[in-house]
Amino acid sequence: MNILRAFKTELDLNNAQKTACARHAGAARYAYNWGLARKLAAYQAGEKAPTAIDLHRELNVLKKTELSWMYEVSKYAPQEALRNLDKAYAHFFRRVKEKRAGKNVKVGFPHFKSKKSGLGSFRLIGSIHVFEKAIQLPRLGVLRLKERGYLPINDVHILGATVSEKGGRWFVSLQVEMDIPDPEPMEKTVAGVDLGVNRMAQVSDGKVFENPRALKSTLTKLKRLQRVVSRRKKGSANRKKAVEQLATAYVHVANIRKGALHQATTFLAKTKSAIVVENLNVSGMLKNHHLAQAIADVGMYEFRRQLQYKGIWYGCEVRMADQFYPSTKRCSRCGQVKSVIGLDEREYQCEACGLVIDRDLNAAINLEQLVYLS
Ligand SMILES: [Zn+2]
Repeated sequence: MNILRAFKTELDLNNAQKTACARHAGAARYAYNWGLARKLAAYQAGEKAPTAIDLHRELNVLKKTELSWMYEVSKYAPQEALRNLDKAYAHFFRRVKEKRAGKNVKVGFPHFKSKKSGLGSFRLIGSIHVFEKAIQLPRLGVLRLKERGYLPINDVHILGATVSEKGGRWFVSLQVEMDIPDPEPMEKTVAGVDLGVNRMAQVSDGKVFENPRALKSTLTKLKRLQRVVSRRKKGSANRKKAVEQLATAYVHVANIRKGALHQATTFLAKTKSAIVVENLNVSGMLKNHHLAQAIADVGMYEFRRQLQYKGIWYGCEVRMADQFYPSTKRCSRCGQVKSVIGLDEREYQCEACGLVIDRDLNAAINLEQLVYLS
């Protein structure tokens, strides 16, 4: 079976390489913003928006004159940025259509990229080679990797590489097409999975995936750093330093979470034939929340995303429960539905049949039962 997969790992760059990467990211950002401005101008003039190919051709002409600095970077950096812009544009129009059809989606017009959120990223295609401890990219040459042996060397077709900066560190994400063995038929069971804040995931068979312990202490540190940033004067060197520390702590939290999520989703996709998870209204919940809740939300989104693609690899059908399915309020033994259940009620107590059960486990079993109900 042929699958698409991305492998992301940290680069180990010297100063000259960091400068070269920043220059590539700058060229990508410039091309993106320039292309967006061109598209907007065409729109306002009532003309057809230029495509990535049109824009790339125009840019190549400008490179001979006012944009000669672009010769210092790989031609793929601006080219791929313009392609991304086309994708963002297509995505925007798709959302507009969905909204017109009555779907509850947020429509955001592609916005100009600013340097505020870091140096950004750029994508390269063309001649890319992976070695055990390094990766070779067009124009940038051989770049060392912090983790050896993670990127696949053999039996993959490389589609491209995205280099990005976060918190002063540089990463490369390698997109590949690879052949994996077809999933083997095995004795598998169905399950419901309840995702939460306190526990990462509760499975209907009783298994619990706890949040990694390191997450809690890092969260405390994050909160402290956020307070530090808000106390520092805007534009001051101290604030800049605090923002950098905060960004590093964020990356750390994200990494801890990711590792734990991958373990859980791989296990579930391999051992279950069908899984039901809640369909969460992600676009609505990713704002106005406490930090812990916000990070849990992102985790839930990531959990479902991983489960869906791993489900395809390992032959596990992943289903979403309807957003209005009362998985928390329903009794998993008799089906009675309560009108309310308090957030602090850790146990579900059924007045109809007398069942007393852990709240999350009850929800997970209710989700599992959807497999048989639908
Ligand atoms: Zn009951």
